[in-house]
Amino acid sequence: MTDLIIKNGKTVDGNLLSVAMEAGKIKAVSSELNGEADRIIDLKGDYYISAGWIDSHVHCDDDMPIYYDQPDEIGVTKGVTTIIDAGSTGADTIKAFYDHAKHAKTNVYALINISKTGIIAQNELADMEKVQQDAAIEAVTELPQFIVGLKARMSKTVVGDNGYKPLEVAKNLQSKLGDLPLMVHIGSNPPTLSEVLSRLDERDILTHCFNGKENGILDQETKTIKAQAIEAYKRGVRFDVGHGTDSFNFETARYAKQAYLKPHTISTDIYHKNRESGPVYDLATTMEKLLVTGYSLAEIIPMVTQNAAEQFNLSKKGHLRVGFDADITIFKTAEGSKKLVDSNGNEQTTQKLIQPICAIVGGNVYDNGYLSKI
Ligand SMILES: [Zn+2]
Repeated sequence: MTDLIIKNGKTVDGNLLSVAMEAGKIKAVSSELNGEADRIIDLKGDYYISAGWIDSHVHCDDDMPIYYDQPDEIGVTKGVTTIIDAGSTGADTIKAFYDHAKHAKTNVYALINISKTGIIAQNELADMEKVQQDAAIEAVTELPQFIVGLKARMSKTVVGDNGYKPLEVAKNLQSKLGDLPLMVHIGSNPPTLSEVLSRLDERDILTHCFNGKENGILDQETKTIKAQAIEAYKRGVRFDVGHGTDSFNFETARYAKQAYLKPHTISTDIYHKNRESGPVYDLATTMEKLLVTGYSLAEIIPMVTQNAAEQFNLSKKGHLRVGFDADITIFKTAEGSKKLVDSNGNEQTTQKLIQPICAIVGGNVYDNGYLSKI
């Protein structure tokens, strides 16, 4: 017996779609479904349906002292079915993180910080003794379903006097681990943007890609995208938004779009403070900021579904396809006027709001009762 059928959802390209689910998987997908099920929800063409949203840069280990949050506060509560913690924990701490993350309603995965301590202080890569490859390999071997990549924060406050050295170790570690992508954060220098980008390969990820910093991809004097950023983008380095408290700037995003440099994934870099007090709030708000930059909904949704799933080898997520995980986000758009603020205090007003109303994870519906009212 089918557990759940969602009927007549709208897709971002304007079609109607119905999805049937059973035992946590998608059983059928069609423009029209008329079978029996334990529960049938008819969206009547009024609401959008997409594969479950994936936020590929968050901080959600609530045992960590600085950047922490509860997975479900940034996950299912916000219409997000899958979150990827980006390096809060390292070899010493990631197993304990897994032990409590697995109880969340939201799917939680992790990128392992190359520093064994994770982010217990801002400068986790200032002491190279903390980068122990054997310990990282052991953790990845033990938790292959949980650890989906590596994380190295490559900015002055994190690396101290070590420059690009931690990145070279990260690349070496990555080569021993096979197919795991490496996410690198940029900020103040050293290391310079060039030193970072020149060491990244196709499918490696540059996060905080639209920050407004001197060492970012936008030349602050000429207001052009730096040649080395264009070159890396063309080589296949993936650009990830990673909004964060300090790392999203409307002007950088706009100039990047003009230079045909698009983000591969939209992520928040959310944790409790920038969720509660802004400027992040949630993934939908970050998506609205890309909308106001000029991206269409049809461009934005793949950046939080299929692109993120493919990036981190989540082979049963990211699409509404038979046999895939029954992870779905239902949302609506509304006309309105909402002030959006970037990490530098610049404001833009969007006339189109993105409002998630339901996250379905493995066939379980999390909607605060909303769907029973429609
Ligand atoms: Zn982060």
